[in-house]
Amino acid sequence: MTLTMLVAAAVAAYALGYSLLCFISPFGPCRRCDGTGNHISWWDKHRARTAPAAKPKRRIRKPCRRCKGTGARLRIGRRIHNHARRLHADGTR
Ligand SMILES: [Zn+2]
Repeated sequence: MTLTMLVAAAVAAYALGYSLLCFISPFGPCRRCDGTGNHISWWDKHRARTAPAAKPKRRIRKPCRRCKGTGARLRIGRRIHNHARRLHADGTR
C-alpha cells in the first residue's frame, strides 16, 4: 500500500464519517454562544477567560443574534447537502 492510497483512504473515511454525522445530527452548537442561546458580550467572554467559575448562566436573558437564541446552527456539510438537493430539484423540474 502506497502512501497516496493511505491518505486517500483516510480522507474517504473522514468524509464518510462527517456525512454520517450530518445525517444523524444536522445541527451543531452555535459557535458564537457555544450552544447556550445567550448573547455573550465581550465582558462575559473576558470574565469566562479570567474567572472560569463565573460562567454565564443557561437562562436566556438576551438571545444570541447569530442563532436567534436556539443555540443551534446547521452544519456546513448539511448546508452543502441542502444546496445540492435544491439545485437538483430546481434543475429537473
Ligand atoms: Zn448562538
